[in-house]
Amino acid sequence: MAEEFDVVVIGAGPAGYVAAIRCAQLGLKTACVEKRMELGGTCLNVGCIPSKTLLHTTELLYAVKAEGAKLGLKSSGVSFDFPRMMERKKEVISSLNEGVKGLFKKNKVTLFTGSASFTSPTALTVSQGATSAQLSAKHFIIATGSEPVPLPFLPFDERRILSSTGALSLDKVPEKMVVVGAGVIGVELGSVYARLGSDVTFVEFLDKICPTLDSSISKAFQEILIKQGMKFHLSSKVTGIDLSDKGALVKVSKTDGSILNLPTDVVLVSIGRRPYTQNLSLDKAGLELSPKGQIPINGQFRTKVPHIYAIGDSVDGPMLAHKASEEGVAVAEIIAGQSPHIDYVSIPSVVYTSPEVAASGLTEEEAKEHGFTPKIGTYFFKSNSRGKCTGEEEGFVKIIADEKTDKILGIHILGAHASEMIALGVLAVEKRMTSLELGSISYPHPTLSEAIKEAALSIHKRAIHK
Ligand SMILES: Cc1cc2nc3c(=O)[nH]c(=O)nc-3n(C[C@H](O)[C@H](O)[C@H](O)COP(=O)(O)OP(=O)(O)OC[C@H]3O[C@@H](n4cnc5c(N)ncnc54)[C@H](O)[C@@H]3O)c2cc1C
Repeated sequence: MAEEFDVVVIGAGPAGYVAAIRCAQLGLKTACVEKRMELGGTCLNVGCIPSKTLLHTTELLYAVKAEGAKLGLKSSGVSFDFPRMMERKKEVISSLNEGVKGLFKKNKVTLFTGSASFTSPTALTVSQGATSAQLSAKHFIIATGSEPVPLPFLPFDERRILSSTGALSLDKVPEKMVVVGAGVIGVELGSVYARLGSDVTFVEFLDKICPTLDSSISKAFQEILIKQGMKFHLSSKVTGIDLSDKGALVKVSKTDGSILNLPTDVVLVSIGRRPYTQNLSLDKAGLELSPKGQIPINGQFRTKVPHIYAIGDSVDGPMLAHKASEEGVAVAEIIAGQSPHIDYVSIPSVVYTSPEVAASGLTEEEAKEHGFTPKIGTYFFKSNSRGKCTGEEEGFVKIIADEKTDKILGIHILGAHASEMIALGVLAVEKRMTSLELGSISYPHPTLSEAIKEAALSIHKRAIHK
């Protein structure tokens, strides 16, 4: 006999576990099926959380070593304990795993551990080893996430050819690392190992790093990473990799026709992620994938089978944990008969390097493509008093407003703590504030966020410290 629920959520990543909790809060009898033993999905186990833990520790190390003398700190003898760093990463993950488990208990979400596959549009089997359970529900939410894309000619072996998951669990710091793909994940993990002393070289197919960033930010960001010792080959394609016991030889072809051979210990392949829908038996539910492998949905997250919804990395849109969670809340509220709204334009994106990069809204290029005449306000952290105090003087804030209405179209921050400051930018973009409104509120002094005020006011030639 199948156990019956109002909602069964498949996947306990930031899309699925949030959807399950919100459904339960709304009074729906909810189950969540997760094939990992731990909850939290990619983000918590092999994504956002382990990467940010390692980024933080290595940032401290790098700051003391590279900037210590300038600040009056004696940094000789400062070193690191790599196994302890990795151990702490595990501790952080397991403490957050327990947190999600506790939230399920508190909200009375029934957890099934095992792999879910549809047996019909209204039922599925959860299999774990030799045991299985049958569940039926009025509504299903597919939140099965994504997986790293390998090079077409070489699978991951997680020894010499690493995915992000392998790069987060190395047992020693490689002398040399080639990173294929200078997107957000590649640049973050490349930064971790560069700070630990690896010789890190990026090979990027496009002509800029982190291609979704505003071009002026991407260019300035790359210059800073070069100063930190990282090397970049842009407009370059990896055409082959020869493996040996010692490592790999990465063959690169550049658009100017030149050929490079890069010897390395490990290759981190960071060329993107693709939706993960294996073993779901979607055909038995009456569903098909789009040509990009995503689950097609309408504006209400409904698949073509109206009581089956899909959210997070398994559907179209930026592959970000907070986007996934917003969709988790929204789909639960839709199932409960409410009318939630997500403003996709303002959803922030962040690169947690040092300095950080954070953005909300349109880039200057996108604003022009959308037919706006952008007015630009910038302010550099080297003129910001808090930046002077802390030595965090790199980077700038760039605000893009519409010339006609002064409404803010986009905010881009390259600088320390940009990930924390961007929440104000999201508010400004989402609430369609004008740059004058953003520049007219009071900011605490001295703070890095005063650069936002000055950038906004500089659109009106009213910045005081410029
Ligand atoms: C290295 C790295 C760093 C990242 N850093 C950030 C960051 O800083 N900020 C950010 O916003 N995003 C970041 N991301 C992206 C973020 O992790 C994803 O966007 C997010 O996890 C997507 O959430 P999701 O719930 O859709 O999918 P997932 O987190 O992938 O969760 C899906 C879950 O479904 C389970 N599952 C799959 N199939 C089945 C099945 N048939 N039955 C049962 N369970 C199943 C999986 O085991 C998994 O636990 C990072 C990703 C990586 C790889």
